[in-house]
This record gives sequence, C-alpha cells and structure tokens, in this order.
Amino acid sequence: MDFRLTDEEEAFQSAVRKFGDKVLRPNERRIDTEGRIPDDVLAEMAHLGLLAMPVPTEYGGMGASATLTELAAEEIGRGDFSMATAVFFLLEAGWGYVLATHGTEEAKREVLPPVCAGKAFLGVATTEPTGGSDLASMRTSSRRADGGFVLRGEKAFVSGVEEAKRLGGGHLTLSRAGEGGFRFMYVPTASAGITTQKFDNMGRMGISTGALTYQDVSVPSKYLVGTDGRGLDLAMEGFSVARTFVSAACIGAAERALETGMAYIRERQVFGQPLGKFEGIQFELVDLWTQVEAVKWQCRRAAWLLDTYTLKGDDSHRSEVNRAVASVKLTAPQISFECVKRVMMWFGAAGYTKDVGLELGFRGIMSYLVGAEGGLNIMRIILGRELLGKEFVPYK
Ligand SMILES: Cc1cc2nc3c(=O)[nH]c(=O)nc-3n(C[C@H](O)[C@H](O)[C@H](O)COP(=O)(O)OP(=O)(O)OC[C@H]3O[C@@H](n4cnc5c(N)ncnc54)[C@H](O)[C@@H]3O)c2cc1C
Repeated sequence: MDFRLTDEEEAFQSAVRKFGDKVLRPNERRIDTEGRIPDDVLAEMAHLGLLAMPVPTEYGGMGASATLTELAAEEIGRGDFSMATAVFFLLEAGWGYVLATHGTEEAKREVLPPVCAGKAFLGVATTEPTGGSDLASMRTSSRRADGGFVLRGEKAFVSGVEEAKRLGGGHLTLSRAGEGGFRFMYVPTASAGITTQKFDNMGRMGISTGALTYQDVSVPSKYLVGTDGRGLDLAMEGFSVARTFVSAACIGAAERALETGMAYIRERQVFGQPLGKFEGIQFELVDLWTQVEAVKWQCRRAAWLLDTYTLKGDDSHRSEVNRAVASVKLTAPQISFECVKRVMMWFGAAGYTKDVGLELGFRGIMSYLVGAEGGLNIMRIILGRELLGKEFVPYK
C-alpha cells in the first residue's frame, strides 16, 4: 500500500490548483451571475487537457487515469466554489469515458475531439419528469428504423441542455428498447424533433439544467453506445465514474470552506481573543477536517479501484467498486455541505453575505444532496444491496 502521489500526479495537481486560484476563483461570481462558464475559461481548461480527461489522446483527450481525474476534480471544486465548473468537468470526464470506451469509431471521431477542445458539450440524460431514481420505470422509448432508431419521450433536470445548444453537442440518452432492454445513444441536441426547456435553479448557475422532449427523433445507428439492450448497465458504469468525480469536487469545496474558516477564526477577535482559541470552535474544525480527510482517501481509493478494474474492462470486482463509489457519494456531499454551513456560522452575520461568498458553495453542493448523480437514499439502497444481498432490496 502506497499513499504517495507520483511526481507526475503531484505536478499535475499543482498545475490544476494554480488554474483554480488564478482563473476559477476570480471568475466564480461572474460564472454564477452570468449563468455560464466564460469561453476563455473553457479554452484554458481545454489547453490544460481538463476536458474529458480520460478520453484517449487519439480522440483529443489526455487518456488520464481516474486517479488523475479525481485529483483534478478536487482542485476544480476548490477553485469554482459554485460547483458549476466542476459539474461541466465531471460530466465530460464521466460520459466522455463511456463514449470513448463503448461508442462506435465513427461517433468517437466525430463527437469527442470538439468536446475535448471545449467546443461542444457532452452530458447524460436519464432522468424523466416522473422520476430519476427508479430508472427501470422510465417511459422514453426508441424503436429501430431505417439506418438507426426513432426516439420518443421526455427527459428532465438534465445538466447542460443550454450548453449543448450554445456550443453544440448532446447527451448520452437512455431509452426503453422493448423486451425489458434499454438503449443508450448519443443524441445531438440540434436533432430535428427535439424541443428544450430551461429550469430556474437555486445554485451552480454557470451550468444549466433543463428538459428535452423528443418527438420521433431520428438517431443514426452510429450513435448507439455499447450493446443494444444493455444500456442500463452502461449508464451505471458511467455513474460509477462520474459519482467518484462528484465526490472529489465536493471534497475540494469542503477543503476550500475549511481553509476560509481557518483564516477567519485565526483573526476574528471575540471576548478579547481569536475565535479559534475557543475550543467550541476549534474542536468543530478538527472534527470536520478529520471527516474530510477520511472521505478524501475513501474517494481516492474509489478512483484507484476504477483504474484497477472498471477502466480496464474488468468487472470481477463490481461489488467492491459499487461499495466504494456509493459510500463516497453518500458521505462527500454531506460533509462538504456541513463544512460550508459550519464555516458560515463561524463568520456570523458576514457569512450570510455574498461578499464572503460561502453561499455559492451552499447553493451548489446542495444539488448533490437533493439528487444530482443519484440521491443519497439511492446510494444507501446500493450499499444495502451490496451488504445484505439483492433479496433485501425490493428494487431493480
Ligand atoms: C442540479 C441537478 C442536475 C442534474 N443533472 C442531471 C443530468 O445531467 N442528467 C440526468 O439524467 N439527471 C440529472 N439530474 C437528476 C438526478 O439524477 C435526479 O434528481 C435523481 O436521480 C433523483 O431523481 P428525482 O429528482 O426524480 O427524485 P425521485 O426519484 O422522485 O426521489 C425523490 C427523493 O426520494 C429519494 N428516494 C427515491 N427512492 C427512494 C427509496 N426507495 N427509498 C427512500 N428514498 C428514496 C431520493 O433519494 C430523493 O431524495 C440532476 C438533478 C439536479 C438537482
């Protein structure tokens, strides 16, 4: 067991931290108020190889390991506290990986290079207006037609709908394929028959969430991802990867909150001494830091498991991977939100202002508590199934 990062990993981590400090922090308020990540920020991310990192170099990516991508996600969550950039980053990393691994050669050559260059968006569309947790009950369906498929239905709460319209691109879309199977297809947002709607979210304003309605949308067969009928498995594989990066971004945001809090309680004088000298505050800091540290290593281990098994196409440790990913996606958003909430309270009234900026993280991290990339109870259901067996979990 060796917990040290390699020289290459350390160098990359510090380059991304520098990008977070120099580019993301000065832009995070603007990202939140203008409701988009500026093109020059995306261009810089592309320049550093941060878009769809795991995609192989021949398709424009850097062929990064999950471990390296996890380290970058931590830094991006620390840099843009609103989480918008982290969401953009991890969607492209997770679903770029799925397309690069399971997509057709034609689709990979067409779709991935612009995504890696920051000139197109790639996301995922599984959730429907009737629910996102119970994927097996989805209604959107597709049928075979000349040269491909015809898609009909509706997706909701999908990240990046506006970005895919503005930049180009689309979403890996899950649909019912008949006879109990599911189909996973890349669907460009500009396809004829698609209408979109934008939702008015409370946070992470720099990346949109919206609905996609498909009215008999023709999807060419080159956009089928993986084996027809096995789409749900591929979506789950993508969720394992993306949830690890979600957790990493939450950990980065938690560390940013604690750093902000520590600087403040060293300086703020109350009752004639720094706030940090009161054990009531100091012990709270220590408890939070200890939990963040534990979750960080849990997350890095999840990334290591992905590298060791999943990304090598080895499904032999699926249960171990599921346990590692679900447990970190269960804990990281909660401890991250708790850090932000506690630090806001250390700041007193100032913590409630936009000047201090903690509310950016408060609003952004909340998305991962309500459900983005799977609700907390869904992580508990996965863990219950892995620990006790399928017969103890009455869901598919
Ligand atoms: C900001 C944001 C961005 C998102 N981006 C995307 C995206 O890009 N693509 C996409 O497809 N989806 C996206 N989603 C949707 C997300 O995947 C869903 O929110 C999630 O799957 C939960 O589905 P739901 O919101 O319909 O809640 P429901 O499925 O209705 O569940 C409601 C609540 O009940 C809990 N719950 C569900 N079942 C059980 C149970 N059996 N026992 C106990 N509790 C249960 C859930 O955890 C949740 O807290 C996004 C969501 C948000 C908030």
